[in-house]
Amino acid sequence: RLVLGIETSCDDTGAAILDENGKILGEALHSQKDVHLKTGGIIPVVAQKLHADHIDSVVNEALSASGLTPQALSAVATTVMPGLALSLGVGLSYSLKMVKQYSKPFIPIHHMEAHALTVRLLHQVEFPFLVLLVSGGHCILAVAKNVADFLVLGQSLDEAPGESLDKVARRLSLINNPDCSAMSGGQAIEHMAQFGNKELCNFRIPMSHHRDCNFSFSGLRNHINYVIQQKESEEGIQQGQILSCAADIAAASQHTVARQLAKRTQRAILFCKEKGLLPAANATLVVSGGVASNGYIRRILKNVSYSMDVSLLCPPPKLCTDNGVMIAWNGIERLRAGVGILYNAEEVRYEPRAPLGTDISDIVRKAD
Ligand code: ATP
Ligand code: FE
Repeated sequence: RLVLGIETSCDDTGAAILDENGKILGEALHSQKDVHLKTGGIIPVVAQKLHADHIDSVVNEALSASGLTPQALSAVATTVMPGLALSLGVGLSYSLKMVKQYSKPFIPIHHMEAHALTVRLLHQVEFPFLVLLVSGGHCILAVAKNVADFLVLGQSLDEAPGESLDKVARRLSLINNPDCSAMSGGQAIEHMAQFGNKELCNFRIPMSHHRDCNFSFSGLRNHINYVIQQKESEEGIQQGQILSCAADIAAASQHTVARQLAKRTQRAILFCKEKGLLPAANATLVVSGGVASNGYIRRILKNVSYSMDVSLLCPPPKLCTDNGVMIAWNGIERLRAGVGILYNAEEVRYEPRAPLGTDISDIVRKAD
């Protein structure tokens, strides 16, 4: 069985062909990051045009690397939710044309399910496992009970950690630092943080007194912005110039984000153990999504998992951010499980907002 995976939900055009065992036969990725860094954020019509301009060459590059023709494929799997409407639309209409032309089954993919299952491409991790998804658009704690069967314990009530770090990086003008060129905001924060002292700014950890597994990042970001503004006036510099304490602010921001993730994850592990949602022995915590490529955040979560007696698994950084491989792998997982395979895909629509699974956050809150 061979699956072509196509990803266009945000700002990466990705494609890959995987076989039944998860062997990557061909892959290609076109990132729009440079363009969006210059405009200070993603402009949906720009993202749509860039996807439309590149999707054909990305898919053909992956196919020719695999040495396969479209006729050889068993199915096409494509992200149809959640994401930017205009971006999702490009991948979906391209895929629908392709499955029609070659009479192939279509497997619609939930982008966050793909982030959650990527780990199983490389590690033998059995269901159920706990997963923390941290990315540019989401922050979700869930129990993965099976392919396409998730219990959502908590999620961000406002923005996602990747979005906050991107905005802080922009506010700190890290894009003007040549050392950080071509890095995403989160990567730039991680890079700068190595040279900073996190103790020089003290940001409160959001939600720490809430008895649930939800997250919040926008208040923290406002606090960070306020401190940046104060430091700018103290140093007598304009917005756009780099503060002498930029590395300290980056380190403190990264630390506070990591601490919040750690606290909520610890709570989720306790809840799952109490309710028998995870195996009593050898339970696994998976951390995935773009922010999971952050080494500092991984180390903090490693300490949490060690102290709670669960093992931590993260996909390699390259597979944490968006790519076609994770979509093709999700297609393989669904083919194996026999779920969500469509032989007539004409009715499929994209969904910009879509829950990952059953929301049990109320039960988590009342459990205390
Ligand atoms: P979603 O998956 O929620 O739809 P997305 O697909 O845009 O959002 P991803 O590609 O999974 O997000 O991740 C991108 C995010 O990851 C960006 O916000 C980026 O700043 C962040 N990120 C990437 N590398 C790092 C890093 N080393 N440290 C922190 N954040 C990082
Ligand atoms: Fe993503």
